[in-house]
Amino acid sequence: MAAQIIDGKALSLIIQAELALDASAMLKETGTKPGLAAVLVGDNPASQVYVRNKQKACEKAGFESWLYKLDAKSTQEDLLNLISKLNHDPKVHGILVQLPLPKHLNTDLILDAVTALKDVDGFGPENLGLLTSGRPRLLPCTPHGVLVMLQRYNIPVAGKHVVVLGRSTIVGKPMGLILLQNGIDATVTICHSKTANLKEITRQADILVAAIGRACFVTADMVKPGAVVIDVGINRKDDGKLVGDVDYEQVLPLCGAITPVPGGVGPMTITMLLHNTLLAARLQSKAL
Ligand code: NDP
Repeated sequence: MAAQIIDGKALSLIIQAELALDASAMLKETGTKPGLAAVLVGDNPASQVYVRNKQKACEKAGFESWLYKLDAKSTQEDLLNLISKLNHDPKVHGILVQLPLPKHLNTDLILDAVTALKDVDGFGPENLGLLTSGRPRLLPCTPHGVLVMLQRYNIPVAGKHVVVLGRSTIVGKPMGLILLQNGIDATVTICHSKTANLKEITRQADILVAAIGRACFVTADMVKPGAVVIDVGINRKDDGKLVGDVDYEQVLPLCGAITPVPGGVGPMTITMLLHNTLLAARLQSKAL
């Protein structure tokens, strides 16, 4: 049987339309529009595209969105002052600091400065701590997007062996923690660059999530026939083409389902950012 293509772009449009309805209901009931402030430091072209796409999605869903562009030479103090101002602005429900930041800035310190209820990226210690302790609140957008894709495509996760390639704080590690939550109930293995016998492990996966940032790293011999393959990677090849961490053409004929790149996990990340902004607006109205 041909593999199922998990279409993140189409699914995102459906979920964003649902979020737009929720936002409009919130506006009617409370007079509040969910609002996202994006902070962009410097002129990294990829970051500019990501931020623009996030803003467009916000506007389409009827959210407020603001862009704060800072010069590449901005100091730590400039950034901390801006975050403090946004933390105290009641119209701003979510604060997004686009990464990577210029090297002279301390990324951890800056992300930690975002107040926890506005941490819509879910990278801050409070939200990650809550996830770790089994009380998830604002989840990191990319791994949350992967979970929602699996759920909306009715792909069973409970009791399945999920192998996650990559242990970063923004994708691999929270992916594992999300899948381990009670009620989701996957059996999780997380691999990284020092993992021995990687191929033996990946071949045991019912669901394989690749998030390592290496073009076409996952080849056919690493995948169990019929497995579900989720490709988080975004890599630009020399000819400008975007590819994932999975060798799509090789893996497609043997897997059970697969996400394409582009059009897979990427759009879901933006959608979960909107989800978090709406959730953050609700949480803040309750906290008043
Ligand atoms: P990081 O560079 O922070 O982490 C990469 C991880 O992969 C590390 O844990 C590293 O191991 C591991 N790794 C690297 N090489 C190997 C290898 N040969 N074998 C096994 N593990 C390896 O990347 P991110 O997590 O930030 O991003 C991963 C990919 O996902 C990138 O392509 C990125 O562009 C993409 N991405 C896509 C998003 C989307 O919306 N679709 C959002 C965020 C990221 P170690 O820890 O040992 O170094």
